[in-house]
Amino acid sequence: LNHDILDTKEHVEDEENQLRPQSFDEYIGQTDLKKNLKVFVGAAKLRNETLDHVLLYGPPGLGKTTMSMIIANEMGTHLKATTGPSIEKTGDLVAILTSLEPGDVLFIDEIHRLNKVVEEILYPAMEDFYVDVVIGKEASTRSIRIDLPPFTLVGATTRAGDLSAPLRDRFGIVSKLEYYNETELTAIIDRTSQVYRIDMDDEAKVELARRSRGTPRIANRLFRRVRDFAQYNGDDIITKSRTIEALQSLKVDELGLDDVDHKYLLGIIQRFRGGPVGLEAIAASIGEEPLTLEDVYEPYLLQTGLIKRTPRGRVVTELAYQHFHISKES
Ligand code: ATP
Repeated sequence: LNHDILDTKEHVEDEENQLRPQSFDEYIGQTDLKKNLKVFVGAAKLRNETLDHVLLYGPPGLGKTTMSMIIANEMGTHLKATTGPSIEKTGDLVAILTSLEPGDVLFIDEIHRLNKVVEEILYPAMEDFYVDVVIGKEASTRSIRIDLPPFTLVGATTRAGDLSAPLRDRFGIVSKLEYYNETELTAIIDRTSQVYRIDMDDEAKVELARRSRGTPRIANRLFRRVRDFAQYNGDDIITKSRTIEALQSLKVDELGLDDVDHKYLLGIIQRFRGGPVGLEAIAASIGEEPLTLEDVYEPYLLQTGLIKRTPRGRVVTELAYQHFHISKES
């Protein structure tokens, strides 16, 4: 989202960490996933074993990182976190793996972006807890085996379909995170207002929840901006009208759609007669990356029924025309 630039990265990370729930019980929503994970974690603890490897997938900002931290907390172990694209060489991954303590949780975000050579190191590591490392130069190279402590890999990805079959098959637990409903988001916003010690009217919470695209990270980010507007104006409680005013200034509409969503939908309506149109063509016409549109924007537009995917491309639905008060013929 465009307003990302308003927060510096470190500042946001501090504030996000403050908000992270620490246990299954504090974690709001994702009921089925939580129920299952509770059983798997509980059973692993009873047997005194490490938890099987877990793959979490779904759109960004739904709480994959948070859930991996909770898994480590609930298992009573430590978490080491890294990302797929930051592990460039096999040596990088070997260094991380050999630094793990027995039972640790290794979290790899964007695991679909691991390069192939690095990924292959993971196979025996996940399956039998060892890595083969090649040492020496040219004629005198040899391979040595290093045993690893048993650990749990938690992988997170926005695109489960991009994972290679051998990697995907090595996860014993595969779970999808869903968008949060309005009630769940309202509860998350309520919690956020308590953590930040700022009162918010109930109807303001619902309004913010409705405009948060089913995504806790967005709810929390918008909360901080709404808080700015309220504090700047000397309010002692955040009201619904202040919330609406702030969100309008941020160009977030009643459905939580922002500038990019608007460009995307209006682009299809105005330049491609509502579709069907291919992702590449839409992306080129509005100057966005196809991958960003596909991972970040389209999932929510599909979920809310504003667009549909057909074999011949994306189509804008009647609902989108209504949203913009445009009649289909024009
Ligand atoms: P990404 O997919 O980009 O890695 P993510 O899905 O890992 O994102 P998180 O960073 O875990 O998202 O969550 C974003 C923010 O939302 C955090 O500040 C976290 O505290 C909050 N949050 C996420 N899920 C919940 C939840 N179920 N209950 C309360 N707060 C949550």
